[in-house]
Amino acid sequence: MLGGMQDFELRVSTLLDHAAREHGPREIVTRWADGSETRTNWAGIAHDARRMAQALERLGIRKGDRVATLAMNHSRHLVAWYGATGMGALIHTINPRLFDDQLAYIANHAEDRVLLYDRMFEAVVERLKPQWTTIERYICFDDLGPDGFEAWIGVEDGAYAWVTGDEREPMMLCYTSGTTGNPKGVMYTHRSTVIHALTELQPAVFDLSTQSVAMPIVPMFHAVGWGLPWAAPAVGAKMVFSAINDPKVLCELMNREKVTHSAGVPTVWFAMFQHIDATGETPKHLKIVTIGGSAAPRAMIERLMKMGMRVNHAWGMTETSPIGTMGAPSPDFDALPFDAQVDQVVKQGRVPYGVELRTVDDAGNVLPRDGKTAGRLQVRGPWVIDTYYREERPAVDADSWFDTGDVAMLHPDGVMQITDRAKDVIKSGGEWISSVELENCAVGCVGVAEAAAIGVHHPRWEERPILLVVRKPGSAVTAEEIQAHLAAHVAKWWLPDEIHFVDALPHTATGKLLKMEIRQRYTDYSLA
Ligand code: ADP
Repeated sequence: MLGGMQDFELRVSTLLDHAAREHGPREIVTRWADGSETRTNWAGIAHDARRMAQALERLGIRKGDRVATLAMNHSRHLVAWYGATGMGALIHTINPRLFDDQLAYIANHAEDRVLLYDRMFEAVVERLKPQWTTIERYICFDDLGPDGFEAWIGVEDGAYAWVTGDEREPMMLCYTSGTTGNPKGVMYTHRSTVIHALTELQPAVFDLSTQSVAMPIVPMFHAVGWGLPWAAPAVGAKMVFSAINDPKVLCELMNREKVTHSAGVPTVWFAMFQHIDATGETPKHLKIVTIGGSAAPRAMIERLMKMGMRVNHAWGMTETSPIGTMGAPSPDFDALPFDAQVDQVVKQGRVPYGVELRTVDDAGNVLPRDGKTAGRLQVRGPWVIDTYYREERPAVDADSWFDTGDVAMLHPDGVMQITDRAKDVIKSGGEWISSVELENCAVGCVGVAEAAAIGVHHPRWEERPILLVVRKPGSAVTAEEIQAHLAAHVAKWWLPDEIHFVDALPHTATGKLLKMEIRQRYTDYSLA
């Protein structure tokens, strides 16, 4: 027997319709790469998205086809997300910072038919055109001439009814950034995206409302811009975008537009601190800062909290849409001393309703949630991957558990703590040393800008940690000072055998340390 309530397919076009109907005038502000600014609102985004849907149909794009973007954060990119998905196509966000062979592989693998790109990536487009075999049409977002995006949708009238269908139909494609191998496509559904968006509104997650002014600094091509462009319209939040990530520009925009919520990887906040130190200018209205993508260092959390902000430490991945856990504070959080609060925020938080976590050992045995035993982290839930795009075999086991490749500990109160990536963990004499903890502890030392810990070959212990350190400009911090700082925080046998000072460390396209490359440099290195 079925129940007596109405069917309502959870399609992302309903999010935009809601925003346009209930919060039409709420603004969407963009600061473009050339310094110009434009303002539109949810009603304007909805009108343009319908015009884009018409323009795609005119090009012969049909339900299920892929429409790619190679673009930063801006209102036209937002239009493209809703325009493509609203006419039944899949929006495929390509990360422009990937290497050429990955860029070629991804667009061909996805069989993209249209590519919408920012002028700043023109050189990439021209270079790769000969290798992209399926793209028929290239349209530039910020070309205001007759061949650009505005002119393309400008000839349409917006009298368009969204394509309807099963909420389980695909609507978006995002490839993992390939930190751990060839990029793999994650294909989201309307249903998974809407449920994920509604979850993000919760106080324990992004805490969004009509009063919020949300500025994702995380690029829309990195793990769905952490879902903010799908979540904001559900409450009619104002959105602020910047097509460039210069901290000076970001800070100025945040203050002028009264940004209350922002989100980005740790590197972004490091850059913001440098700006604050140099100018004294701070983001005055910012209340909630979400940090994820890699572990947020303690010193960063402390500094933001002392500035009066709530720090939301999030863990997730492209395969989890991306929210897996968020730093939901404990019931007694407000009454705790500052250091105890920071102790909580340093961990990766709790799952929202729907997501389940467990840890297992190498033999697959489920480990206790005792806050002591670390194991491989597995996840399942309504917005977690089942099967990668164009793969036949599911990415999960028979009970739908997806192995994240992360090593974590689960605490009795439900809090999850990432200790490392399975591939990055340093194995000294069979015991595990967390590279993440060493790195985050090191950046808490005065004079250290960035640090990377890797395991190198050791004749007796098999592997021992060494630490690569980038000094802050003007700093002369020594290896002894760093060792002394580390010794106060970690077990003695975790201390790195050597500390090497370097000018810079390599990063992935999403601003994370490129451990694979760092390890490669040291493959033949051996400690005495
Ligand atoms: P990729 O795996 O290609 O780098 P993702 O952006 O999907 O692409 O990265 C997901 C990974 O990032 C997670 O599996 C985890 O290793 C790491 N990560 C994300 N958030 C955190 C966090 N808060 N703390 C520690 N690691 C994190």
